[in-house]
Amino acid sequence: MDFYDNLLDDTHRLLRATCRRFAEAEIAPHADAWEEAGGFPRELYRKAADVGLLGVGFNEDLGGSGGGALHIVAAIEGLMRGGSTGVAVGLGSLGIALPPIVQAADPWQLDAFVRPVLAGEKIAALAITEPGTGSDVAGVVTRARRDGERYVVSGSKLFITSGTRADVITTLVRTGDDPHGGLTFLVLTPDMEGVAVSRSLKKTGWWASDTAELFFDAVRVPVSHRVGPEGGGFGTLMRNFQTERLALAAYGAATAELALEASIRYARERKAFGRPIAGFQVTRHKLADMATRVLTAKTVVYQVATRMDRGQTVVQEVSMAKNLAADVAREVTYEAVQIHGGLGYIRETLVERLSRDARLLPIGGGTQEVMKEIIARSMGL
Ligand SMILES: Cc1cc2nc3c(=O)[nH]c(=O)nc-3n(C[C@H](O)[C@H](O)[C@H](O)COP(=O)(O)OP(=O)(O)OC[C@H]3O[C@@H](n4cnc5c(N)ncnc54)[C@H](O)[C@@H]3O)c2cc1C
Repeated sequence: MDFYDNLLDDTHRLLRATCRRFAEAEIAPHADAWEEAGGFPRELYRKAADVGLLGVGFNEDLGGSGGGALHIVAAIEGLMRGGSTGVAVGLGSLGIALPPIVQAADPWQLDAFVRPVLAGEKIAALAITEPGTGSDVAGVVTRARRDGERYVVSGSKLFITSGTRADVITTLVRTGDDPHGGLTFLVLTPDMEGVAVSRSLKKTGWWASDTAELFFDAVRVPVSHRVGPEGGGFGTLMRNFQTERLALAAYGAATAELALEASIRYARERKAFGRPIAGFQVTRHKLADMATRVLTAKTVVYQVATRMDRGQTVVQEVSMAKNLAADVAREVTYEAVQIHGGLGYIRETLVERLSRDARLLPIGGGTQEVMKEIIARSMGL
């Protein structure tokens, strides 16, 4: 729709089309099976890297495809055409795991961790959340004690996307007592003694992405695996959150758009009382409302991404976009299930999956309530 598409240039459109083609060819035919199996093959990372999908937003000298925030939005929109948010976020976990390492710009770490992940050879995960703390990042207690040229890390992490098979685990640990200044990123790898996946978690949605609980038992991590300076973890994380929240807003808008399109198709085909259900005013008005909500979410997501690419501060707006898109995804998928009737409650139906997947959006990457705190604070309240 031109309403927001005019913010895109040819590079965004081409990327969106490439990702869509990839999703339709490589994901859609397998989406149902991968969702039921709770995972997708590792080789999909390599295939996604080959078409430049994994590297969106990363510089070409690192093996990335370049581009900025609006390219990330365009790629998500294309990728969601595979019909599985789980696959998309599984492929996308590098988007939150690598930026702290890229920012620190240590040449050895870029070679050891960033380039192989962008090439689709390794999988990356970001490990912040713990059993005792999520929203309150300053509550992280996984401890890293310095012992010569190593840190000794003990603790556990919860809800880690791609965590059961990640080769690069960008992990927030406590190196000091100051709530914020005592946090540092270290890269842990699963071959280190004492790193264990304690559980693979079953979820409401996002079935095709694995979600892990990780346990660290006196893991000896070389100092060369420290990302940036000791105590710099909190600032790095806050910068990382902006892109993560934009991406989640883009997932929300794309989820709603897919649900709307599926509902329009179904309403035209399905007959009741001798005519297509699209002929009932109540259905037509539902679809009109859904389309209006999709337009609102997409416009805000595209605008915020454009401003991010211009280097403008959008802390308030990105929080608003995430909350708005999460609401829109919830409302639109709810009505989409309603329009599909009984079929909307059946596992083979796309809108059934989308309605479950959408539930994560007001929780992950900062909850709806935390976003509202950020918005209120930036209003001077
Ligand atoms: C499928 C999935 C994938 C995830 N992937 C990752 C990942 O890859 N890496 C990672 O590190 N984490 C990941 N997470 C964790 C996610 O980021 C956290 O669940 C989220 O930040 C919320 O933290 P919490 O679950 O501890 O909830 P809590 O922080 O305990 O919050 C519980 C409730 O209290 C409310 N609350 C908390 N503080 C306030 C406040 N100050 N004001 C008002 N209300 C408040 C919250 O809004 C929420 O409603 C994932 C989670 C899920 C479910």
